[in-house]
This record gives sequence, structure tokens and C-alpha cells, in this order.
Amino acid sequence: MESLSNRKKVVSDKPMTFVERLYLPAIIRGMMVTLKHMLKRRKTIKYPEEQRVFAPVYRGMHVLKRDEEGRENCTACGLCAVACPAEAITMIAEERKKGEEHLYREEKYAETYEINMLRCIFCGLCEEACPKEAIFLTDRIVPTEYERGEFIYGKDMLVEKVDQRIDITKRQGTGKRGKI
Ligand code: SF4
Ligand code: SF4
Repeated sequence: MESLSNRKKVVSDKPMTFVERLYLPAIIRGMMVTLKHMLKRRKTIKYPEEQRVFAPVYRGMHVLKRDEEGRENCTACGLCAVACPAEAITMIAEERKKGEEHLYREEKYAETYEINMLRCIFCGLCEEACPKEAIFLTDRIVPTEYERGEFIYGKDMLVEKVDQRIDITKRQGTGKRGKI
């Protein structure tokens, strides 16, 4: 049958000639291939010293946003978890108590909120599903770890710090979410 790639080679088991047994021509051919690749422009970069410029639509590590008063936007409605095709999101909801109005914007908040980064496929559906503009994907890279448990990100990793807000406007462009 004709090969689809047209790269099929018929293997021959005929005895090697004297020149072939010297292996020199094959070694020289191999060295030429190596040399050719050495002179080519590298497609790889020396990460993390060098970093590529990401596309504006790049989807990386999530952030749980706060409002302009520093309160958590998330109301633990669970829509992001339902929308997630990888079932990477889990949370436990809690009622906001009197005196906590400065911490949580809504009457209900996520007491725990976890994303399993090993399951996440960075599709952005959680962001799309969120009615409170609480969760966004950013251009941050999820750091590498040695233990699987390290990839379960809780609120300590996801909620933005009051004094270190994460700008998502560049990635979001000029759409509705770009104004957040
Ligand atoms: S980006 Fe996609 S896979 Fe990752 S948590 Fe959100 S919905 Fe789930
Ligand atoms: S991040 Fe948004 S969708 Fe997910 S629980 Fe919080 S408010 Fe609901």
C-alpha cells in the first residue's frame, strides 16, 4: 500500500560494502546535519532568564478579584465550578456575618475556594460563567512544583492582595471585562 506521508523506505539487509563498514561517510553525514542545526536560528529560549511576549488573549493562572473597596467579589455561587469541564474548582460557601461587610461584597462568600491546577485546562469558562466578575485568568504562569499537592491553589494563592492588585485590562482588551 502507498504510504500517506511518502517517506516510507524499504529496508534492505544486503551486506555492507567496505566503505559502509568504515562508517565514516555516515558519521560525516550526521555531523553535517548537526552543523546545519547549529547554524539555524534557535526556536527555543532560555527560560526563565528570557521570556516570550504573551498574546493578549493568553490564559494563565487565575485571580479572584476584589472590588474598589478591597472586598472579595466572589459570592460562592458555584457557577464557575459547574461550568468547569475539568472539574477543577471546589468551594465551601459561608454566610457573611455582621461586621464583615468590609471583607466580602456579597452576603455569601467562599470560605474555601480551590482550583486544582493539574486538572485545569485554562479554557476560561469559569471566567465566562462568573456573574460577579470575581474570577479571571491572567498572564501569570503557574510555577512548577515537585509535589502534586502543591498544585491545589487555595484562596491564599488566588485572591489578589489588597495592596498588590493584578491588572487584567491588557489581556482583556477593551471589552466589558476590560474596565474592571
Ligand atoms: S480555566 Fe477552564 S479548566 Fe481551568 S478552572 Fe476555569 S473552567 Fe476549569
Ligand atoms: S468566582 Fe464567580 S462564579 Fe465562581 S463562585 Fe465566585 S462568584 Fe460564583
